[in-house]
Amino acid sequence: MKIHEYQGKQIFQKYGVPIPKGYPAFTVEEAESAAKRLAAETGSGVVVVKAQIHAGGRGKGGGVKVAKGGAAEARQLAEKILGMQLVTHQTGPEGQKVRRLYIEQGLDIDRELYLGAVIDRDRRRIVFMASTEGGVEIEKVAAETPEKILTVHVDPTVGLQAFQARQLAFGLGLLKHKKDTVSQFVKLISSLYEVFVEEDCTLLEINPLVVLKNGDIVALDAKINFDDSADYRHTPAAAQATGRANWDELRDPTEEDPVELEAKQAGLNYVSLDGNVGCLVNGAGLAMATMDIIKHYGEKSGVAPANFLDVGGGATQEQVTKAFKMILSSPKVKAIFVNIFGGIMKCDVIAAGVVAAAKDLGLKVPLVVRLEGTNVELGRKILNESGLAISAASNMADGAQQIVRAISGQR
Ligand code: ADP
Ligand code: MG
Repeated sequence: MKIHEYQGKQIFQKYGVPIPKGYPAFTVEEAESAAKRLAAETGSGVVVVKAQIHAGGRGKGGGVKVAKGGAAEARQLAEKILGMQLVTHQTGPEGQKVRRLYIEQGLDIDRELYLGAVIDRDRRRIVFMASTEGGVEIEKVAAETPEKILTVHVDPTVGLQAFQARQLAFGLGLLKHKKDTVSQFVKLISSLYEVFVEEDCTLLEINPLVVLKNGDIVALDAKINFDDSADYRHTPAAAQATGRANWDELRDPTEEDPVELEAKQAGLNYVSLDGNVGCLVNGAGLAMATMDIIKHYGEKSGVAPANFLDVGGGATQEQVTKAFKMILSSPKVKAIFVNIFGGIMKCDVIAAGVVAAAKDLGLKVPLVVRLEGTNVELGRKILNESGLAISAASNMADGAQQIVRAISGQR
């Protein structure tokens, strides 16, 4: 799960990570009064109007603007940014509609650094990454000048050590600032480690982490992704009891993929992808293998999975119907591959769900079905007697090849 910058900063503040003063705004009026409030609090009229969307690169896309002319200018900028379709390198070409703003005090920046943390699954540790090349796309730094990214891995049994924090601080050249810049950094990164562990993050990113002209260190941007598997630790009740973030409050459904949201509510494991083959599979392992085999046979002809979908072992006919309807209603799907190995899941349940959905919405694209396992005969009978144009596949490879031929044949 992703959250907005201002929500990330609120969490930072709770853990003692220094952030600029700022207020979220949902309307132009709120933006204007936030700017006035900031001016009164900071004694400076410079504020930054920042689009809040679940994607980075907002500055380059025109979603982060500095207002030097006080609240009136902030209002004008808010009018421009609120409601705009913001396109960044992370949103895709269609962009993302701006529905919220963050109005923040403008700071005097000396240097823009990068600081991030993710889980390094190979090493089974949280890894911190820091770079003097902040404010720009870190992907670019990693690709072109990887030596400019410093890393430290944290041993989970002892946590982040001060020497590791200092190692990064020295690498970032923080000694050249005022006396306590290094110790500010050490404190900041220790707090950040606490956020990562306590709040169940998969990614934490501050780009840029800035050194101000006065030598102080401040998190100017905040990106947090949470580990969805930890959602039980962030229910309203759990949050109340532990003081951790309440994810129900932080969630912004308008930023989430509507189909993924629908799937989640139906209890299905669904991830949208960029390809053109709708996949209905049971079991996460088989679902991944299915995607691999479609890519294997389809790569050269531009055939790729449009989704990952694991209906699980205990899905009901209603869930299967729902899942199949989701695939059918996607305009990018040019063919559908149903690949089921009935172990706990029964093939007849799948077949009945597929037929019900296809009868309801109409089947306008080729459908290839590979069924094996429990009640396979009954499942095949249901499909055969349904009157739907279904191609049976004898195995996965055969199914994937049929799919590739079906899509190539449409061109
Ligand atoms: P994004 O990464 O989505 O582009 P950022 O929050 O990193 O958005 O903002 C982009 C740039 O705008 C920063 O690198 C910084 O130069 C400038 N900026 C952002 N917030 C402030 C602020 N409060 N004061 C001064 N400059 C800012
Ligand atoms: Mg940024």
